[in-house]
Amino acid sequence: MSTVPVVVVVGTGGAGLTTAIAAAEHGARVHLVEKQPGIGGMLHIANGEFSGAGSRRQRERGIDDSPQRHLEEVERISHGRIDRDLAALSVRHQGETVDWLDDLGFEFHPDCPGLIHGHEVYDVPRTYWGVEHGRSVITVLERLLAEQVAAGRVLLHLSTTMTGLLREGDRVVGVEVEHEGATRPLTGDAVVLATGGYDANLELRNRFLPEGCHDVLVGCLDHATGDGLLAAEALGAAVSSDGIFLPVMGLIPDPARPQHAVDYREAFVEMAPAYRAPHEIWVNRDGHRFVAEDTTSPEHRERALIRQPGNTMHVVFDAGVVENAPVSLIRNPADEWTPARFAEACRTSPWVTRADSLAELAALLDVDADALAASVASYNEAVTSGSDPLGRTTLPQRLDRAPYYAITTVASSILSRDGLSVDTSMRVLDTSGEVIEGLHAVGELLGNNKFAGDNYVGGMSITPAMTLGRLLGRQLASRLAGAGTKEKS
Ligand SMILES: Cc1cc2nc3c(=O)[nH]c(=O)nc-3n(C[C@H](O)[C@H](O)[C@H](O)COP(=O)(O)OP(=O)(O)OC[C@H]3O[C@@H](n4cnc5c(N)ncnc54)[C@H](O)[C@@H]3O)c2cc1C
Repeated sequence: MSTVPVVVVVGTGGAGLTTAIAAAEHGARVHLVEKQPGIGGMLHIANGEFSGAGSRRQRERGIDDSPQRHLEEVERISHGRIDRDLAALSVRHQGETVDWLDDLGFEFHPDCPGLIHGHEVYDVPRTYWGVEHGRSVITVLERLLAEQVAAGRVLLHLSTTMTGLLREGDRVVGVEVEHEGATRPLTGDAVVLATGGYDANLELRNRFLPEGCHDVLVGCLDHATGDGLLAAEALGAAVSSDGIFLPVMGLIPDPARPQHAVDYREAFVEMAPAYRAPHEIWVNRDGHRFVAEDTTSPEHRERALIRQPGNTMHVVFDAGVVENAPVSLIRNPADEWTPARFAEACRTSPWVTRADSLAELAALLDVDADALAASVASYNEAVTSGSDPLGRTTLPQRLDRAPYYAITTVASSILSRDGLSVDTSMRVLDTSGEVIEGLHAVGELLGNNKFAGDNYVGGMSITPAMTLGRLLGRQLASRLAGAGTKEKS
């Protein structure tokens, strides 16, 4: 008779999958619980950009980099607001995560490692992504998971929702799950919560968002309802409340779902001038421009937008832009938005407001007509004089040919900033700073502030999720195997 440790992992995003696979590979038996019918979590929609220093791919391209340099960059970009111990632990191993994916045949996009302009730019290329974005990661992890399932080391419970944590004395010993209306316990030597964020749960999300940001759209998938956070909090776990928020820009309100964005895989407005020189102007709900549209700092424009009424802006352009802009304003990650498709959307799409005059456009947008006319006139003067009051230097053409158009976009939340407190063994801490025995957490459930502080930092959500997940799975299997708390097999 042999004995094996049992680990219960909840969630099959990048964090849960890597934890479960690593634990199984190192000798544990894993119950892997997922409330949806399939695995992958947010990787289905994510850009899937991950970062790591000192990788083989960097060395092959002569890029001089190190985890220490990466950490210094993370500190700089995050304004020093990270959890230094956790972020350092992750960054130290992120290059290994990149090499691990490489060894597994991950389909890297040929441009990586690269510099990414959707967030503040790193000083060296250390960002990677797959040909199918987040789904490329799923492809690799799905294969590894299938091997462990086939070997009987991972028991995968799909369409099964964790509804609570089970305790014996002070120790967490399992989870309660619900499947097809029936509830049952799943017990083990350790429980790992990897249930992701809370941004699709408006009430919970607004508890963490600062004042004045409650109009931001939900830009992530619906599963992010904060289940793990609430279950752990009910047991006394400490939850951060840092008051930090930066939105992503360019997401389009979904006419069919109030306070939700159109699925990012379908369409968004590209903001970064590195990818699309702006031909339009951006005005707020009062009709005023509020930032130079060609700023190269994502942080600068994101902070400007959350100061605007309703966290809302209108991208205003004219017939000349539709005819002449070299690339489509609207894109999707697969880049299928050609100028011709964009021109068609300007004629027919419900996301685009169109009018025969600026006054009519202002009325349709519920924006002050005089203010909008003044903003356009001032911009047109800037095009002529070459000098813009907001300091914009990309001044390609006047906006003076009907029809006029606007795309309304609203600041959006795509990942959770706050989360559970853990130590560097990913053991969940209570409000007194004590370990809650048996309970661990990893991934976005920890809150992105721990790894990105007061900003977005390239790859610093997916990569810590996978990197710390691998470390945790490995550690749990080894530690529990040595601890004697084992199940008969
Ligand atoms: C549009 C978009 C683009 C992004 N791009 C990037 C990027 O390029 N780089 C980056 O670093 N980050 C990016 N992110 C963020 C990143 O995708 C996530 O932070 C990360 O993937 C989260 O991984 P996770 O495993 O912690 O959680 P998730 O991937 O959210 O997985 C959690 C899983 O737990 C399951 N679950 C939840 N509750 C329960 C329950 N009660 N019972 C059972 N199962 C449950 C869910 O169904 C889900 O499968 C992006 C996010 C979005 C929305």
